[in-house]
Amino acid sequence: MKRLVVVSNRVADLTKTAQAGGLAVGLADSLRQRGGVWMGWDGQTLKYEEEPEPRIRKIGEVIQATIPLTEQDYAEYYLGFANSVLWPLFHYRLDLVEYKTAFLEGYRRVNAKFANALVSTLQPDDLIWIHDYHLIPLAAELRQRGCKQRIGFFLHIPFPPPEILAAVPRHRWLVECLLKFDVVGFQTQTDLNNLLRYVEDHLGCELLPDGRVKTRERVVIAGCYPIGIDVDSFVAMAEQPNDEVQIETKRREILGRRQIIGVDRLDYTKGLPDRLRAFARLLEMYPEMRKSVALMQIATPTREEVEAYIDIRKELEALSGEINGRFADFNWTPVRYIHGTVPREALAALYRASQVGFVTPLRDGMNLVAKEYVAAQSMDNPGVLVLSKFAGAAEEMHEALIVNPYDVDDMARNLCRALTMPLDERQDRQRALMDRIRKHDAANWLNSFMAALEKGEIRREED
Ligand code: UDP
Repeated sequence: MKRLVVVSNRVADLTKTAQAGGLAVGLADSLRQRGGVWMGWDGQTLKYEEEPEPRIRKIGEVIQATIPLTEQDYAEYYLGFANSVLWPLFHYRLDLVEYKTAFLEGYRRVNAKFANALVSTLQPDDLIWIHDYHLIPLAAELRQRGCKQRIGFFLHIPFPPPEILAAVPRHRWLVECLLKFDVVGFQTQTDLNNLLRYVEDHLGCELLPDGRVKTRERVVIAGCYPIGIDVDSFVAMAEQPNDEVQIETKRREILGRRQIIGVDRLDYTKGLPDRLRAFARLLEMYPEMRKSVALMQIATPTREEVEAYIDIRKELEALSGEINGRFADFNWTPVRYIHGTVPREALAALYRASQVGFVTPLRDGMNLVAKEYVAAQSMDNPGVLVLSKFAGAAEEMHEALIVNPYDVDDMARNLCRALTMPLDERQDRQRALMDRIRKHDAANWLNSFMAALEKGEIRREED
């Protein structure tokens, strides 16, 4: 078996079994089994004149190679181009893009640093798999340094339509960089179609009948590889008794109260303000729901140095306070807003104890919380998933109640429908959704991408 070399902005801590985030969990599990190299930024910012050698650590069968960044790199590459330009742009939020030429320079500089650190560790037969929007130019940098190995790229976030992409300077260069990979993978057909439209219309590439893209110098596989979770291990986690959650659930049962749950990084793409408004609208439109349901919203802090993230935090704190001020009673708090990180084990128990999973991003690459919520339900009495049509997960999870996250009334009506849905309908939907998340699970994602990277196999829809 060829050695796998994974590169992502950050590397996960392989000494811990629990990780937050799909990328970390999926890659950590597969690398542990297969062995290989994982390279990324170590999270440190240092002052240095000459690029330091990568720090090498061997954990089991995995070699981790990490490099530090300078403060300037951190400001321009990470906070700047990655998170103030590409992140909002790729989530269709042109209003939040803050472009500076220095950001683009920092982005190119750090990708070159990654390439310098990587080339010295490569072997001729390696398969290289690069992840996410931070590292789009990395294949181009590696090719410039003579790298001939097969290189794949997976984009964990959405890929925008050409009209939106065109708003960023050097958009053509970005897409040309993508075409230096051998395989380019997306979460959904929508994302893939957006890329294909761009390469055909703006770069004059030929789209071959088998789905590959022909440029002047190479043929690239562009495909859709929806990411998934390890369903069995999540089911096992949700079935583990969790005393604290069970006591709380018993209390709610005695009082005849249901729980709606939302779990997200505190990000402006997650549609959190309108989600809270939709819950308030539910209480307005259906007064009988008052005191019989509460919303638990877990909002995990993220990228707190970017202005837009400070704004969203303030907005949410004000909104939850306002809703509680308006509707709460001495023995009922409608919104429980938790600004913090909850371990995945506890999340699994909380999903299982919640009658509705409320997942309403304005735009999301996939959204693993939607899949985890389904995996955590018991077949005897499953809850209902209410899912935004703009989450990548909605492209497969048709049996969820699909909502428009911009339409507060639509979300409130669907919350009511979920809370009053008969058991047999909930079970039918649960069965179908479980089949779907099993079909597109973490192993399937990894194997189908690796088949393309290693053997040039093209994924067909029925796969
Ligand atoms: N997560 C967690 N603790 C938290 C919040 C989130 O472990 O307090 C995990 C969650 O279980 C999921 C991941 O973080 O696996 C979030 O992935 P998702 O695809 O939903 O969104 P992203 O954060 O990648 O945009």
